[in-house]
Amino acid sequence: MSSPETFATPTFPSRLPHVGTTVFTVMSALANKHQAINLGQGFPDFACDRNLITQVNEAMLADHNQYPPMIGIANLRNGIAEKMKHLYGHHYDPESEITITAGGTQGILTTILSCVSPGDEVVIIEPAYDSYRPSIELAGGKVIAVSLNAVRNEEGQVTSYNIPWDALAKAVHAKTRLLIFNTPHNPTGMVWQKSDLDRLAQLVRNTSTLILSDEVYEHMVYDGATHHSVASHPELAARSFVISSFGKTYHVTGWKIGYVAAPASLTAEFRKVHQFNVFTVNTPVQYGLASYLSDASHYLNLPAFYQAKRDFFRNGLSKTQFKLLPTPGTYFQCVDYTALGIPEAKLNEADFCKWLTTEIGVAAIPVSAFYEQATESGVIRFCFAKQEQTLSTALQRLQSL
Ligand code: GLN
Repeated sequence: MSSPETFATPTFPSRLPHVGTTVFTVMSALANKHQAINLGQGFPDFACDRNLITQVNEAMLADHNQYPPMIGIANLRNGIAEKMKHLYGHHYDPESEITITAGGTQGILTTILSCVSPGDEVVIIEPAYDSYRPSIELAGGKVIAVSLNAVRNEEGQVTSYNIPWDALAKAVHAKTRLLIFNTPHNPTGMVWQKSDLDRLAQLVRNTSTLILSDEVYEHMVYDGATHHSVASHPELAARSFVISSFGKTYHVTGWKIGYVAAPASLTAEFRKVHQFNVFTVNTPVQYGLASYLSDASHYLNLPAFYQAKRDFFRNGLSKTQFKLLPTPGTYFQCVDYTALGIPEAKLNEADFCKWLTTEIGVAAIPVSAFYEQATESGVIRFCFAKQEQTLSTALQRLQSL
């Protein structure tokens, strides 16, 4: 009997040779395998509002199930325009300046593909969300990474971060195509100020540098603070793509829906790529969100809702040897673990997170994963978008350290 013929699968040069599976997926899989409490990947473990589900169901039953317009349905874009005008004082024309995307990450990739040509320089500020760099590389762009300044106490522990304006001034020049800005900031939880927007405007004033402003945590700012969107800064708005996410705001990360607002000339280029990238985004969810968005109370109540979780979690952590970094925004709490009186406190961040997941039963994300060159600062990120019971069980385990 002759053996079956085997056919070789051709090999080819990887477009992303250094990229593996994202840290969020890896840590969620590890958490599931070890039945750990997953405070790693950022997503809520509680249900979204039933009314939102009802409105999406009604849209399906009303036969809104075929392709919507490529740019998104008018009611949803109109609602976003009204909301942005109300919150940030900038009028985006819903017809020519707002596009519905399949989540924030697609908005980021499509923005980059639409304006970055091979060889173009793109400045990112690390620690940076892990999709920025590969998205730039796929476009053939060159990543210029600048690190946030870590503010340290006398014992060398990180207590806060600020933006390295001097380093940025060196990195941004006439040929810089794009700078990626992110506020509230993932993973540090920092919220950048109006003065930061002024510095940013000054930095790019005499350049043709565009801004991608990742603002998916726009409604998660605490202690009465304000989110300063680049949309609220006319000079920056004129050169910015503003990215937001319904998944974050409405507790529906699995629906993968968000939007990008940008001046008409930028949006026109964005849409050229968008139409061949996803073409358009799931119709009934757009209808459901459009009617839900008209009630502002949900996003207006979101700061108080998450602040209660943040305070509960921080209060529990204050009974441990973890050193808490400030969390003015996002649903992430960073902690320095180097002062824990256990041998594992000497592990690097990735190994510490693996150990914490497998041995203690609480998953977290190493902040080093947000840097290209391993940068160890002994800081890990917990997500507190969880039910009190989940946070409480996690805290009991962390308090045993
Ligand atoms: N944005 C989420 C986080 O930072 C995760 C998104 C993802 O898993 N790709 O945790």
